[in-house]
Amino acid sequence: MREGLRARKFSAVDLAEAHLAEIEKTNAHYNAFITITRDKALDMAAASDAKLAKGQGGLIEGIPVGVKDLFCTKDVLTTAASHILDGFKPPYESTVTQKIWDAGGVMLGKLNMDEFAMGSANLTSYYGLVVSPWQKVQSAECRVQSKGENDNSALSTPNSALVPGGSSGGSAAAVAANLCPVALGTDTGGSIRQPASFCGIVGIKPTYGRCSRWGIVAFASSLDQAGPIARNVRDCAIMLSVMCGHDAKDSTSMKLAVPDFAAALSGNVKGKKIGIPKEYRVDGMDAEILAMWDRGATLLREAGAEIVDISLPHTKYALPAYYIVAPAECSSNLARYDGIRFGLRAGDAGDSLTAMYEKTRAAGFGQEVKKRILIGTYVLSAGYYDAYYKKAQRVRWLIAEDFRKAFEKVDAILTPTAPSAAFAIGEKNIDPITMYLNDVFTVPTSLAGLPGISIPGALNKDGLPLGLQLIGKAFDEETVLNVAYGLEQAINFKTIPLGV
Ligand code: GLN
Repeated sequence: MREGLRARKFSAVDLAEAHLAEIEKTNAHYNAFITITRDKALDMAAASDAKLAKGQGGLIEGIPVGVKDLFCTKDVLTTAASHILDGFKPPYESTVTQKIWDAGGVMLGKLNMDEFAMGSANLTSYYGLVVSPWQKVQSAECRVQSKGENDNSALSTPNSALVPGGSSGGSAAAVAANLCPVALGTDTGGSIRQPASFCGIVGIKPTYGRCSRWGIVAFASSLDQAGPIARNVRDCAIMLSVMCGHDAKDSTSMKLAVPDFAAALSGNVKGKKIGIPKEYRVDGMDAEILAMWDRGATLLREAGAEIVDISLPHTKYALPAYYIVAPAECSSNLARYDGIRFGLRAGDAGDSLTAMYEKTRAAGFGQEVKKRILIGTYVLSAGYYDAYYKKAQRVRWLIAEDFRKAFEKVDAILTPTAPSAAFAIGEKNIDPITMYLNDVFTVPTSLAGLPGISIPGALNKDGLPLGLQLIGKAFDEETVLNVAYGLEQAINFKTIPLGV
């Protein structure tokens, strides 16, 4: 697209219009976009065309971008897919989205997600679930008949339709379904990598501290990171160069130069040491996922990499630690939603302040969010702090140590991204443990703050994509991207979803 724009084969307005037309045609089915910023897109595209005509413009000048609805966008509805942010139009722009617009990105709209980014299937959004563009081969006839607005119960989506993953489910579905070429996501415990895996595309969570979190609605501040979702490694690399960099407004963002990630892509993995952690061979692992993982290692070996068996002994404690640390931070972060200054306010004029708080929070938060606030409040309470929160923090340190030791021996680590392919909408939401288990391979990286990418590894027997994850050293996204690029070429995954 960048080449086409520069060569004037089409204009940025053409590109925006083509994507808006596709959104108009199919978004009612996917429910990927919550807000479509048509006028803004066309204005921004016209401005890009003016720059391109003068031979000017940024790295992604004129490229349409979809934004997860967790990024605050000035004067554009920002909901975190929660009722409690009803009508919220931020008076400021997040640092990452500002960087995207400064580099010439064209805003198509805001993308659906799990409420406050809590979930793995995009089933917790106040604005309704998202349908994946992928379908199982044997249920290819499954289609959505019609649907009401913003409420899962009103959807006539067949239970056999597939989830896009989560929490950046709208971002992944939109990219896979051709509604936008690239999208912004966030990842706290896997929310970029797992939906990328489910949707047969690429997503990278950079190192904690690479991207500014300023203006991103906070879920778990010590884990949250922004990252791109795109159709291939190169597109992710280009986007990441635009997104990251130090920001004085986020004290956890690192003062580091931003590499030109795309320019560094050679795909040469010769001599690279790739670790295979034995603890990720979990009991009862899907044979097709195991086969994909083995083949990934074989392809890297054939390309000249050295495959090294490694151990990450505390892996099995990662998920329980995450589900203490993340809810603890969420309970604290979400305390700000009280109906006073912005968002939803429930209750009656005569209510006391406390009654208004209670009614607002009862009406504004969904079930999953309430559950996590309760867990978080409990593990932070005086009597349980040491037993749960403090212990989880210690476990987190042990997990980071595991990785630190492993990276003395290897340059990157190869694992599956998720323990399953995309599941059906009706399949898992009754059992929270099964749902949480979906994060088993992505959460350790998040706790350690390390970069991780997911690329499509293979199709399973149902014709659904399975993802491979590459994990790197802190701030070594270059190696992660480069090994992923080499592996992407070797795998040569070309299947695209059937779509609507
Ligand atoms: N699925 C995980 C959770 O629900 C991760 C979510 C995320 O990365 N935002 O917490």
